[in-house]
Amino acid sequence: DQVANQIAAGEVVDRPASVVKELLENSLDAGANRIRVEVEAGGRKLIRIADDGCGMSRDDALLAFERHATSKLRTANDLLSIATLGFRGEALPSIASVSRVTLETSTGEPEETGTRLEIAGGNILHVDDAAVPRGTTLSIADLFFNTPARRKFLRAESTELAHVTALVTHYALVHPEKHFELVSSSHTLVSAPPVTRTAERIYQIFGKETLAQLLPVAAETKLDRAGLPEPPPWKRDPDEPARDPGQLRLSGFYSKPELQKLNRNSIYIFVNKRLIRDRLLLHAITEAYRNVIPPTSYPVVLLFLEMPPEEVDVNVHPAKTEVRFRQQNLIHDFVRDSLRTALIKARP
Ligand code: ADP
Ligand code: MG
Repeated sequence: DQVANQIAAGEVVDRPASVVKELLENSLDAGANRIRVEVEAGGRKLIRIADDGCGMSRDDALLAFERHATSKLRTANDLLSIATLGFRGEALPSIASVSRVTLETSTGEPEETGTRLEIAGGNILHVDDAAVPRGTTLSIADLFFNTPARRKFLRAESTELAHVTALVTHYALVHPEKHFELVSSSHTLVSAPPVTRTAERIYQIFGKETLAQLLPVAAETKLDRAGLPEPPPWKRDPDEPARDPGQLRLSGFYSKPELQKLNRNSIYIFVNKRLIRDRLLLHAITEAYRNVIPPTSYPVVLLFLEMPPEEVDVNVHPAKTEVRFRQQNLIHDFVRDSLRTALIKARP
């Protein structure tokens, strides 16, 4: 069974940043308002995430490390349109099978004691009481200590740290109302207390100069909903609203032509609040900027797309950053044209 977990780990986690991603999503799913990420040696030595979310009871904490024991699939509708961030019940068992994990968690209920768990290579070493505040702290030490072949693929500490930083930045941008911190070997890299608007969060993260170079963009269009019949009433969750008319909404910020970055990491794309990587949308953005900036440089773009969940398949890859759209061409052209129109309007 540990072998199965280790194989799954190869799919779910390949580097410290992907561990951070899974744990951040769990913290967000747990309703955390404050999330602190700490790493040492770019996460190779230690990744620690502390949240103030709902915490786990003793039984839930033990169950969390069993494969597919997720608590997050509640109705048949969840299976069709997965709105919650994590959903496979594989992350924790996978991560625990290839590292040394310490979990401290508490639901904050007066009649329940908090729990401290120690796991190494997937084996539970200790289960103890712990007087900890409501929330969860997970420490992942010595990633891939028992899978040397995989450890060999880790890059330099600075490279791994750059990936972790980009990731925490992404999540902080999507959730300006939450408090995010990133600390690397006691240096604070991200410190973002709650704010109300995305622009304020951009200011916190990228600074005043970058914000001054960005312009807001917003657009929406109707999606073609043909081929998506309403589910029959007996399959419908009575609490879910009937299907909406299919709006595609875009909002975000884009750089004036004067501001150019030399790498693609300055393009952030979110679909339904989930960070994604998508060639199609990168292409649409590049097209919008064609002949506006030199072909050797990249714009700074933060794009938030909202669409009905059944329009996008997030299950293409377990690491969940790749997606497939039902109406690829429509979405590509909408993004390209919305940005292009905004750019032309903004021309001095
Ligand atoms: P999934 O997120 O797909 O359910 P995971 O392996 O990531 O699977 O997590 C397993 C379970 O552990 C979750 O379903 C949740 O019940 C619990 N869990 C994990 N992290 C946290 C957290 N930070 N706070 C509260 N519960 C958590
Ligand atoms: Mg998860």
